[in-house]
Amino acid sequence: MEISAITFFPRHTRITIRFHHSLYSSQVDQLRAHLLDMLPSLREHLCYNRSGLPFTEELEDTELGHVFEHVMLAILERRGLCASGQTTWNWRRDPIGTYHVTIATGKKHLVKESVLVAQAILTNLLLGPVLPIRLPEGRRVRRHEPLPVYRLAKSRDKTAPQLLFASRPARHEGPETLGASTRG
Ligand SMILES: [Zn+2]
Repeated sequence: MEISAITFFPRHTRITIRFHHSLYSSQVDQLRAHLLDMLPSLREHLCYNRSGLPFTEELEDTELGHVFEHVMLAILERRGLCASGQTTWNWRRDPIGTYHVTIATGKKHLVKESVLVAQAILTNLLLGPVLPIRLPEGRRVRRHEPLPVYRLAKSRDKTAPQLLFASRPARHEGPETLGASTRG
């Protein structure tokens, strides 16, 4: 996956990302279990999706851009910022796997940090073998404290990399939008 662009506005930020090998969470082995384990607050997320599913169920099979949005929101929440977000895509206009994630905050420092941590978390899951990442305790921190340091612990997991090439994204004939927010 790659971050193609981050555009800051006074009250929101737009992130363009592209996934190259997988498109849906269901294509990534154990993605849901790992994410819920790493970021338990995902269980509380409100999610406005096509099927009206709670996010914990939606997470079993949803667009990876949508997963990225929720991971970003969960990381922001750990830093004391409850925000909302939205994920859109239009693969008639953009290359397949491109998502536009809008997060409703213009706080550059926190957004940039959450983009980078979310990228690390998802790359870890997408590329495998999955290394356990320990995030800092979920306490609320003041804005000017140093960035959190997350450590990679030694992995005993010898699973082969899970690089899956998606077949045609049949369910995406046209542009779509999903929304989300954290409580608070
Ligand atoms: Zn959502």
